[in-house]
Amino acid sequence: MGSYKINKGDIQRLLENLLKRGLVEGILVQSKGEKDIFTTLITDPGLINTTAPLAPLFSSNSAKYLRNNGFKNIAVFVKPCEARAINELIKLNQIRSDNILVISADCHGTIDPKDGAISEPLTKAKRKELEGKGISLRKACTVCEHFTPPEVDISIMTIGIDEGYILVTDNDEPLEGLDLEKGEVPKGRDAEIEKMLKERSENKEKMVSEIRRKLSSVGSLTEVLKNCIRCDNCREMCPICYCKECYFETPLGDLKTDEMLYQAVIKGALRVPPDILFYHLTRNMHVASSCVECGACEEACPRDLPLLALWKAIAGDVQALFKYASGMKGDEPLPLAGFKESELEEVK
Ligand code: SF4
Ligand code: SF4
Ligand code: SF4
Repeated sequence: MGSYKINKGDIQRLLENLLKRGLVEGILVQSKGEKDIFTTLITDPGLINTTAPLAPLFSSNSAKYLRNNGFKNIAVFVKPCEARAINELIKLNQIRSDNILVISADCHGTIDPKDGAISEPLTKAKRKELEGKGISLRKACTVCEHFTPPEVDISIMTIGIDEGYILVTDNDEPLEGLDLEKGEVPKGRDAEIEKMLKERSENKEKMVSEIRRKLSSVGSLTEVLKNCIRCDNCREMCPICYCKECYFETPLGDLKTDEMLYQAVIKGALRVPPDILFYHLTRNMHVASSCVECGACEEACPRDLPLLALWKAIAGDVQALFKYASGMKGDEPLPLAGFKESELEEVK
């Protein structure tokens, strides 16, 4: 494993190097426009100077744009929650892993892109400045416990590093020609991570206990979800929702007027849209063991339903049951894809 001292310019040199040497044909990375920052797929090395890889913004989980990737080599520069979703989708056979180079950096938290176009990581001082302007971290980031990169090809450490950053990789090939100086991970980094983790875990516990108080039965889940209009935004924006053909797009799951009328005749009346609880329980069943708690579903919900808290509670319980942290390791088998005779003895 190699670790190198780098600065912001070196990150752009690395991306340029990948394109110029033909190691990849495109790079999925954030770029800076005149007034905003957005995700781009860049193929022209001359445009790398417009990129803002460390920009603390999150508009959607980019892993969803990589599903069913073909045979072209590409690199992606993503947040840890996006990298974790990529690892999960690789295990779910939805992303080919042999032609994708994943780069991820420590994440100090992100804001909604509509709140500004900031290019640098959100240090404590920067967060304070933003709070003064009424801009806060995305809710998912205030409760995120996996803000350092999972297993990826290239990790960039920014937390607890006084000057510049530290790049860590097992594969030096993409770095050839960059003449990077070797560097060490500073000892103080772990303490800084601990501090951030403590704050976020406390926030998470609070969020989870609040939603648990509301969820004492299936009836109470219906109550929490009662304003859902089945617009499908949460499903569309979820990077993990992986079925190539979703049940809710089939005639059985997407009832037309006559089918609804048929059910209404049986019951006397049918609540419309139908099957809200079934929709959410299906998503829960499919996504819980792989959910990366990125919050993209809740941000896409027009009815402001507390989806993140639900996932934190449900996915948290399922993953804890199987001692599994979604997407942290590339080769850890999916909990529901195998059967171990020795597990869950208490339900025998
Ligand atoms: S959820 Fe975590 S990894 Fe994702 S953007 Fe927020 S802090 Fe970063
Ligand atoms: S269910 Fe929501 S929080 Fe979980 S991975 Fe999907 S979009 Fe992210
Ligand atoms: S985004 Fe909100 S309203 Fe739309 S289906 Fe999901 S939970 Fe329901």
